[in-house]
Amino acid sequence: MDAIPPAAPPAPSASPCHGGRDTFDAAARAAGKTEVMDQLMKDYPRGPHDQPQSMCPAFGSLRVGLRMRRVATILSGSACCVYGLTFTSHFYGAKRTVGYVPFNSETLVTGKLFEDIRDAVIETAKPEDYDAVIITNLCVPTASGVPLDLLPKEINGVRIIGIDVPGFGVPTHAEAKDVLTGAMLRYARHEAEQGPVARPRNYKEARNVCLIGELFPADPVGIGQILAPMGLAAGAQAPCREWRDLYSALDSVAVAALHPFYTASVREFRAAGRNIVGSGPVGVDGTAAWIEAIGLAAGVPESQREAARQAVLPAIRGALAANPIKARITVSGYEGSELLVARLLIEAGAEVPYVGTACPRTEWSDPDREWLHAHGCHVQYRASLEQDLAAMREAKPDLALGTTPLVQKAKEMGMPALYFTNMVSARPLFSIAGAASMAGIVAAQTKGRERFGRMVSFFEGVGTADGAGYGFREKPVDPPGFRDRQRKLRAAKAKSEEAVGT
Ligand code: SF4
Repeated sequence: MDAIPPAAPPAPSASPCHGGRDTFDAAARAAGKTEVMDQLMKDYPRGPHDQPQSMCPAFGSLRVGLRMRRVATILSGSACCVYGLTFTSHFYGAKRTVGYVPFNSETLVTGKLFEDIRDAVIETAKPEDYDAVIITNLCVPTASGVPLDLLPKEINGVRIIGIDVPGFGVPTHAEAKDVLTGAMLRYARHEAEQGPVARPRNYKEARNVCLIGELFPADPVGIGQILAPMGLAAGAQAPCREWRDLYSALDSVAVAALHPFYTASVREFRAAGRNIVGSGPVGVDGTAAWIEAIGLAAGVPESQREAARQAVLPAIRGALAANPIKARITVSGYEGSELLVARLLIEAGAEVPYVGTACPRTEWSDPDREWLHAHGCHVQYRASLEQDLAAMREAKPDLALGTTPLVQKAKEMGMPALYFTNMVSARPLFSIAGAASMAGIVAAQTKGRERFGRMVSFFEGVGTADGAGYGFREKPVDPPGFRDRQRKLRAAKAKSEEAVGT
């Protein structure tokens, strides 16, 4: 029987979703999580906003675990957080069980929660069912110092991975994907360093390039076509779909950080001696530069790099010319691919004055940031919703690509808008397929501008401010005399305050 961890301090009462980040951070450090919090602060630096403005960050790591074969996921956190996370994961089609270890003040304060977690992990870790069990501390257990590092590393051959994913330490759900991916790569790297490991299911002997990021399914195929003339192949993706794929990801000749926020994962690839290449093969300029960078990283001679350029660049140029975009577009999102999307739009002919991403600035998006600056586009890292909205109001775009609240605001203003995650991330971005993919939706949406204008004037004044809500059968009317009385009360109050001291 392992030692019972020392009693945790009382749980903080404020939810980090609504403030109290400093309180939670201080509580976590006082409870022995200083190293964890320091690493999170280093990996995911803060920006203009210090709170997640999108969904609970832990959804990112939860989703990565749920998408893996033979991997169990267990959450430890407040019931409301777990309800929201499981609801969202099933909304996105998880079709998998999410384990939950509940707690109350007593189990939290006495350390019994840790024992409950350990029992749950032991019960779940059946080698006939699972390769790994992921247990995640959400906000309150992290702030209370529940020591997942004291769990056994392995039970009957099933790996046990404990991670802390607090909303007060991981700013976006994108970066939470990296927390889990990095933790699994680290475990797999140590396994590989100790001796032979299982052969990945679909492993092909080739000079593979690992692709970092959750990609549209056609993208690895397109990237594979770019790599082929260089004697390279598109290998495993990180996040992976199966534990064994982690070994082939680590075994790559080079690593493409297509999504540029996987800081912890990159640390593991570097520890395994791999070269990392930023940006991605978007448009003509982006693809040419990426071929050069990935070719050099993998030791490919110039003749083969030139062959790769000749094989793909004319086709990308042709696809862009055949699918021109004539519109002013602002881009905002939290996926990490916003800069790449903006590059593609500009190469297709669009004017993109602003791109905002909730992700932090890293060295792997530097080529994109520099290219966008040179093409008159403002790049805002760690963009807040307020910054995205201000940019949209100022730029008055023909089309705004953004998050749900931004799209809602754009529609209120009679402006065509598209939800980045559902519409932009759900189509190819790279190589030839990517070059042709955006024009259709941009044209369809911008054509509807006049229709949006008519909708705004039709609904003018209905269902906004204090007239919003359900149950009105007619256009809501103010209670008679209400506003007038309030105005007079305010005026009298202001007058009495003016009179003080005279
Ligand atoms: S776990 Fe997520 S939902 Fe719960 S308090 Fe933290 S950030 Fe909010």
